[in-house]
Amino acid sequence: MHALMMQIPLLVSGLIAHADRWHGDTKIVSRTVEDPKGLLHRSTWREVHRRARQLANGLRHLGVREGDRVATLAWNTHRHLELYYAISGSGAVCHTVNPRLFDEQIAFILGDADAQVLFFDISFAELAARLVPTLPRVCHFVQMSAREALPAGFPAELLAYEDLVRGHSERFDWPLLDENAACGLCYTSGTTGNPKGALYSHRSAVLHAYACALPDSFGVSACDVVMPVVPMYHVNAWGLPYVAALTGAKLVLPGPLLDGASLHRLILQEGVTLSAGVPTVWAGLLQHLARHGGDLGRLRKLVIGGSTCPPAMRERFEQLGVTALHAWGMTELSPIGTVNAPRGDEEIISSEARARRRAKQGRPLPGVEFAILDEDGQPLPHDGESFGELVARAPWAIRQYFGRPEREGFTPDGWFRTGDVATLDPAGYMQITDRAKDVIKSGGEWISSIELENVLAAHPSVLEAAAVAVPHPKWDERPLMAVVLKPGATLGRDEMRAFYESRVAKWWIPDDLEVVDEIPHTATGKINKLALRTRFRDHCWPEDAAAHTTATATGDIVDIGVDLIEQPG
Ligand code: AMP
Repeated sequence: MHALMMQIPLLVSGLIAHADRWHGDTKIVSRTVEDPKGLLHRSTWREVHRRARQLANGLRHLGVREGDRVATLAWNTHRHLELYYAISGSGAVCHTVNPRLFDEQIAFILGDADAQVLFFDISFAELAARLVPTLPRVCHFVQMSAREALPAGFPAELLAYEDLVRGHSERFDWPLLDENAACGLCYTSGTTGNPKGALYSHRSAVLHAYACALPDSFGVSACDVVMPVVPMYHVNAWGLPYVAALTGAKLVLPGPLLDGASLHRLILQEGVTLSAGVPTVWAGLLQHLARHGGDLGRLRKLVIGGSTCPPAMRERFEQLGVTALHAWGMTELSPIGTVNAPRGDEEIISSEARARRRAKQGRPLPGVEFAILDEDGQPLPHDGESFGELVARAPWAIRQYFGRPEREGFTPDGWFRTGDVATLDPAGYMQITDRAKDVIKSGGEWISSIELENVLAAHPSVLEAAAVAVPHPKWDERPLMAVVLKPGATLGRDEMRAFYESRVAKWWIPDDLEVVDEIPHTATGKINKLALRTRFRDHCWPEDAAAHTTATATGDIVDIGVDLIEQPG
């Protein structure tokens, strides 16, 4: 029996129309890209909606039709926000591209997506000029600025964004699209092999926004001032431009200035209550506060994800009166899969259990389903101990990569294979132990690099730590720590090892450390393990490396001499 309910499609245009109608005067504040000091541009949801409609007419004028891919290389700004709504609202596909990738990767992505139009911020004009010869299918290049700021000598015809907006009428009726039509296209970072496209639908984007706004997710309301630091070119800034319109929150867009001092200024000046970004960005903010002092004003919540939030970081923010919400997600999941919010049983579990829970990646958002599988694809128990590959399903998870064979990356029964190794506990909290390709395999057992990083991040001398698997003649691989120290601090191998005693199993304790000036990060802010593995693959282990490995994975003490040690496990 069919229900008798209205069939109104879930569309991205519905979000901006709602924000305009009921929160039209709510402010949108954005750092400008043209101004080196990052002057602030102020508009409102009404203004964003009006200019998005003008832009939608502009796109039509350029010949953009439903389903066409319109690409952006842009920071988090009001213009990028207008583009989000103009492109998707008019039925085209908003294809955000990460400008921090290599030229070849960007050219590959734009070619694979078959983009027809490329919008770019003034700071990416040189990048766009270099790309022109590799993009025969792109018919229009648009710089996101006024005409006066167009560069001379651009190797293709170049349009000015402001002309495209101002030259067109604000009368545009958002088409009543099929909610399953594509609205956005993002590519994975592709640290191994070429990046792959996740093609989002209007329905998936809107449902994801609803789920993210919930109290146990990001918990966003019309009283919030939301600042997405996570870039709009990285999985739609975790959906926040949609969540903010859905809830009518004020939006603060930090443009290209993402250093601790600039973010701190914006947080105080604009009364930011909620922000979101990767741990490295927040490490920058904490460093700024450590040097210059100050508080975080009205900031109440920070969503931290993209890579593991070290417990020490969460605790520091909590001392500053800010709840750090650890979240996990993937490009293929739009991206949010879990948020670490408390549960109703917090009062009755021990403080140790609460602390262990807090360190995890969180509970699935309603709609997200998980299983963990062993190497034969068999489900493992949700006991918080057994770890295996995490597979997921959700209304906002992809069912196929763009332009790829149907089954690539999926289990035979259609679950998305995340490539993350995780545990699930009976209360639903998921914990990532590693990317499958980053686990350290010592004597046939797995050591969690994330756990090793979390422990060392709490050492008073350590600014950032990365654990890498380095070949070892006896154990196959052993963990080596690459460590950035705080200014003036020192840390020796023995001190590091002593710090790990009682914090991790004996055979997990890293055998050595390398002090480095900087830990390499990928274009999406994750530790670049591939680069570290390559750099340290010939690392010369100290003579007694792994001599401490006298306990098996199950905790049994075996032997003491290196040659006599039984393989862990
Ligand atoms: P991306 O598609 O670029 O967002 O990357 C997704 C990957 O980032 C996931 O598969 C995880 O390996 C990693 N990731 C995201 N969030 C977290 C988190 N909170 N803790 C650990 N890893 C994370």
